[in-house]
Amino acid sequence: MMATLPLSETCDMRDALTGLASAELARATLAQWQAPREIEGATIDIHSCCRVMLLGLGRIDTVNLAYGASAGDRALLEVAQRILEFAEEEFESETWLAARLSGGNFLIAVRESCSPERWQWLAEALADFVSHPISDDANASTLRLWPRIAVMRPAALESPDVILDRLADTLARAQDRHGSRVLWVDGKLFPQGRSSASLEADLLGALDRDEIKIVYQPQFSLEDDSLIGAEALARWDHPELGHLGANALFAIAERADHVAQLSQHIARVALADAAIWPDHLRLSLNVTPADLSSGMFATSLPDIIGQAGFDPQLLTLEITEHVLLADLERAAISFSALRAHGMRVALDDFGAGFCNFRYLKLLPLDYLKLDRTMVEGLGHDTRDLAIFRGIVTMAKALDLAVIVEGVERSDQISIAREEGAAIYQGFIGAKPLDRDAFLTFAADYPSR
Ligand code: C2E
Ligand code: CA
Ligand code: CA
Repeated sequence: MMATLPLSETCDMRDALTGLASAELARATLAQWQAPREIEGATIDIHSCCRVMLLGLGRIDTVNLAYGASAGDRALLEVAQRILEFAEEEFESETWLAARLSGGNFLIAVRESCSPERWQWLAEALADFVSHPISDDANASTLRLWPRIAVMRPAALESPDVILDRLADTLARAQDRHGSRVLWVDGKLFPQGRSSASLEADLLGALDRDEIKIVYQPQFSLEDDSLIGAEALARWDHPELGHLGANALFAIAERADHVAQLSQHIARVALADAAIWPDHLRLSLNVTPADLSSGMFATSLPDIIGQAGFDPQLLTLEITEHVLLADLERAAISFSALRAHGMRVALDDFGAGFCNFRYLKLLPLDYLKLDRTMVEGLGHDTRDLAIFRGIVTMAKALDLAVIVEGVERSDQISIAREEGAAIYQGFIGAKPLDRDAFLTFAADYPSR
């Protein structure tokens, strides 16, 4: 839950470029979190629980110099999007804050207590996510930013100014230092015990110990509101660190070079689960570029599907447009082979970041899955509606069905329906459900 505050009208709440919280709002939020709390009207609790991190993009000035200020702005926007996506995923039920303080400096904070190990891990996973290549079509170029992150647990009653100063000092030290992407304010590289290598090693065990959970988010037809299937989404319930979201999980897998094992595990479990769903329901699986380049999906997926006893015609593979496919031609060959088995292919996250129309040209596709940011403004922003309309028209011309995701309001559903999209998915329909909850949901869902 993003922090909301009653603030004076003079307070500039949003950063104009990125839409994240402004520095002023960040200060006001931290001040509120750090204020003593009254418990049951009498006891005063001065215990501070919040955790904060300051992410700095050291190279943003170089980007401005080399590519121009507007390219720098686009890169900052993309980083802000990634931070937002990451926070929404990882801090599902917590109160959190994401702000741009200045230039390439971003503050991320959660109000609740969280172990130092988890905070360290979140910082590392966020650094990984932010450092993925950013493609800039306007300059026909790709750039990478390597963030450094200062992390801390503020002391009780420590003021926002002191917190931000201490973070800024630490970030400056981290930026001077080679090799330490994440630095604690008290100077430690790792809080205690667990190192990044041990978590990476943990992952293989986690696959065996059944700590990787798969949840299923229902998808609905816009034509008649019927349930048409679900997307499989992975989580890691780590015994010590708690809940790790999909982005953190895949960042760890990538660093440990275990993406292929993780993807195979998810495919096996999800296909076995889906084999007992009511007959007509479809399953969507996310596919990473690493899966495609390892050749695993094209060769072993049909076997995994056969072993599970799932009908390949009911399987959709989602490939994200967000991550750059190193070898589009090869991906196109893999997908063509899979489509020959009856599977369908969706281009995921369309409209998040920089749209790459080459994907539409080269990949054999069935669906265009529009990112949440493309449907957010429907109903109150005429430009968003115009863009949406244009994309649906383009999809129709290419014979692609449109899926809208991240739908949270009913007006988005009616507009998407009127404009000719085919399928919706989002919290308004249902949140991701565990295996049994999805079975109950499907059984109870009125058939049309
Ligand atoms: P995605 O494929 O775009 O998945 C949709 C994400 O949006 C999910 O987050 C889902 O929980 C969230 N979401 C769905 N409806 C709403 C809504 O109405 N509002 C908001 N705010 N969020 C909504 P999740 O599960 O954390 O997954 C994040 C990303 O991680 C996925 O994005 C996907 O790219 C990746 N991922 C997740 N599971 C897997 C997996 O099994 N394999 C691979 N390769 N990637 C995965
Ligand atoms: Ca997806
Ligand atoms: Ca998506």
